[in-house]
Amino acid sequence: MRIVQITYRYRLEPGSGQTAVLARSAGARRWVWNWALSRKRAYYTLTGKGLTYHALAAALTELKQQPATAWLRDIDSQLLQQALRDLETAFGNFFAKRARFPRFRSIKRDTPRFRIPQRVAIAGQTIRVPKIGLIPARIHRPLAGTPKSATFKREADGHWYVAIVAEQEVSAHTNRTPRTHVGVDLGLKSFAVLSTGETVDNPRVFRTQQRKLARAGRAMSRKQRGSANRAKARAQVARLHAKIRQQRSDFLHKLTSRLVKSFDLISIEDLSVRGLARTKLAKSVYDAAWGQFRTFLTYKADRVDGYVQVIGRFYPSSRRCGACGAANHALTLADRVWMCAQCGSTHDRDVNAAGNIDREGVRLFMHHVAAGHAETQNACRASVSPANAGKAR
Ligand SMILES: [Zn+2]
Repeated sequence: MRIVQITYRYRLEPGSGQTAVLARSAGARRWVWNWALSRKRAYYTLTGKGLTYHALAAALTELKQQPATAWLRDIDSQLLQQALRDLETAFGNFFAKRARFPRFRSIKRDTPRFRIPQRVAIAGQTIRVPKIGLIPARIHRPLAGTPKSATFKREADGHWYVAIVAEQEVSAHTNRTPRTHVGVDLGLKSFAVLSTGETVDNPRVFRTQQRKLARAGRAMSRKQRGSANRAKARAQVARLHAKIRQQRSDFLHKLTSRLVKSFDLISIEDLSVRGLARTKLAKSVYDAAWGQFRTFLTYKADRVDGYVQVIGRFYPSSRRCGACGAANHALTLADRVWMCAQCGSTHDRDVNAAGNIDREGVRLFMHHVAAGHAETQNACRASVSPANAGKAR
C-alpha cells in the first residue's frame, strides 16, 4: 500500500456570525504574519542572524498572556503557528531564489485566508472547525481518506471556500505493463479527440461563459474607478469566474475519471506554450482547462496504477501520416481532412493526430521501460513522467 494526497474543495455557507469569525481568523493569521515578519527583520538588523520558528512560536505564546494581545487566545493556536510556518516557507523560497522577499500583508490587498493542520472534518453537510464549530457547506462529493490540512479562503466572488487535503491509501505500484492505451488530442473546436475516434465536445459553458465574461468585463471598464458601481461590476465578474471554474472542474473530473478507468496508458501533448486560442479571453479559458485536465489525469492515473505519458511539444502530431509516417508539410489549420501524398490514406486531422500521440506515447513509454527507468518512473510517476517526457526529447 502507499499513500496519496487528494484535495477536495467545498463552498462554505456560514451563518452571519460565522462569517465574522472566519474573517477574524484570517485577520489573526495576517496579524501574526506581519508581527513575525517585523520581528525577524528587527532581529536580523540587530544581530545579523535569523530568528527561528521555535523562538517565534515561544514569543507568540507569551503574547497570549499580555492583555493587549490576549485576543489571540480566542483563535485556534495551530492556525497561528501555521502562519509562522508559512512565513518560514516564504523565507525558504526567497533564499532558494524561487520567490521575492516576504512582504507585509495589507488588509486591502491580502486575500483573507488561513490554514488549519489536522482536526478539520466533514460532518454531514457541515465542516467541523476547531474554535469555530460546525459550518454549513456544500458537500458535492464525499471526502475519502483522512483529512490532513484545511485552507480556508474568501475568494473574489465573496464566498468562503475550504480546500481539504486528504490522504488515501491505494494499492502499491506494480510496474505492470499497460494493456490498453489511448492518445488524446486536445483542441479548440472540440475539447478532445481520442485515438479511438471518439470526439469529446467542449462543454457549452466554455463559449457562453466567455461571452458573458467579455460583456461583464466591458461593463466594468465603463464604470468609474473607485466607484461603488465599479465594485459591484467587479464582484459580478468574480462570480462568473467562480461559476466557470466550478463547471469546468465538474466536466474535467468526469472526463478524466472515465479515461483513467478505460485506459492503462494515456498519452497527451505538452500544450503549455501552444498558442492555439485566438483571443486573450479564450486563451485563459482553454489554458486553465488544459492545465487542469493534465493535473486531474495525472493524479487519477497514479491512484489506480496507470500511466500518463506526455509528448514533447515539438512532436509533429498533426502533420505525420498515421499509416506510413510521411510528413505533410503543406497541412494548414484549416485542413480538417487530408490525404497522404505518400500512401494515399485519408485522415481526419484530429483523429490522425490522436493516433500519432498514442503511438509516440507507447514508444516513449517502452523506451523508458527498456532503459530500465520503469522503477524510477514508478517511484515518483506523477511528477517524473509528464515533466521529463517533454525534456527528454
Ligand atoms: Zn501515408
